[in-house]
Amino acid sequence: MKVSLPKGTKDILSEEMRKYRYIENVFSEVCQNYGYGEINTPVFEYTELFQRGVGETTDVVQKEMYTFNDKGNRSLTLRPEGTAGVVRSYILNGMNSLPQPIKLFYMGKMYRYENVQKGRYREFTQIGVEAIGSLIPEIDVETISLLNTFFNKLNINDLQIRINSIGCKECRPKYNEILKDYYRNYLDDLCDDCKIRFEKNPLRLIDCKQHQCMAISKNAPYLLDNLCDECTDDFNKVKEGLDNLGIRYIVDKTIVRGLDYYTKTVFEFISENVGTQATICGGGRYDQLVEMLGGKPTPGIGFAMGVERLMMEIEARGVMLIEPKFPVLSMVTLGEAAYKFSSRIIDELRKEDIFVDIDVMGRGLKAQMKYADKMKSKYVIVLGDEEIKTNKCRIKIMESGQEKEISVDSIVNRIKENKI
Ligand SMILES: [Zn+2]
Ligand SMILES: [Zn+2]
Repeated sequence: MKVSLPKGTKDILSEEMRKYRYIENVFSEVCQNYGYGEINTPVFEYTELFQRGVGETTDVVQKEMYTFNDKGNRSLTLRPEGTAGVVRSYILNGMNSLPQPIKLFYMGKMYRYENVQKGRYREFTQIGVEAIGSLIPEIDVETISLLNTFFNKLNINDLQIRINSIGCKECRPKYNEILKDYYRNYLDDLCDDCKIRFEKNPLRLIDCKQHQCMAISKNAPYLLDNLCDECTDDFNKVKEGLDNLGIRYIVDKTIVRGLDYYTKTVFEFISENVGTQATICGGGRYDQLVEMLGGKPTPGIGFAMGVERLMMEIEARGVMLIEPKFPVLSMVTLGEAAYKFSSRIIDELRKEDIFVDIDVMGRGLKAQMKYADKMKSKYVIVLGDEEIKTNKCRIKIMESGQEKEISVDSIVNRIKENKI
């Protein structure tokens, strides 16, 4: 058998994994400071959840889901995004009876059958938050602020924040009619997907990236210009709230977001770093999603971002400074008795949470020295029967090449207290 890797997947090796952990740690800390608790939902759910929660007409549901029947002939789908699962959990666990809002963050693998390109995989990692239960725009402001703080902690300070409102169940249907009136004149020129969108989800017409459709969309009426009073008020409050915190943003009437469940505030964080403009993170309000999935009418807001895409951004900027860990001490041993003695020292230090190393390959003395050097150990001690008998050994400080004589029974304490 010849092993290979399915297209669109990748191994995350140790060095890269350290960067993932770093991003996760920063994200987790920022989220917790904003009052969010972590949630971990299953990687697969009933297909229906995503069909309803993400939207039948979206590309994600129509083209990109990993859907399969299990042995009990139930249709399951690998989650293509995080929100539907979190909302499902909110409903099933009765979180509506707890003090609101419920603020949750997550990090995990998602799956979409997409065209593979740089920074885009079919199995990918997303981090995101959901704040469920608050109807007022202050939570929108807080969510954008959280995201802004997160990027600042990663030393990314120049992202452009774009916001828009895509209305509510009052003003959006009216706008859809205005939109359809506009597009009706160009129906024959639209792409096949858009012909379906025209009937099922007109708002997404604006979002189409096909050339012929983009040309038509240029002059389409905007939802922001057709909001109801409540949506206009809320959007103004979001802008005021961001101004109040000194967060700079621009209003971009073209943002609609790709998923069906968004209402009112939507936002994107855009990078101009890699030449072309690219969305690093997007999110928005979803005031009807909980109800759509069978819960009581409950508003919510959240965002998600792909960690792989974020990683590209971080690498292009060279802003991540994570030092790999090196052993504090490598024990080099000669003979079985010395090995046993040394492994007890190593064991004791490891229990004190100190990174120390000893040969487990049966290497000879010279090869052990070479390996300790390669591992970039800070100190190396060579121990044989003679050293144990006289209780004297030499510790080598690898950086300077300097050697010192110390007593064997002081090794553990000296390393622990970093006194050489
Ligand atoms: Zn409205
Ligand atoms: Zn189109």
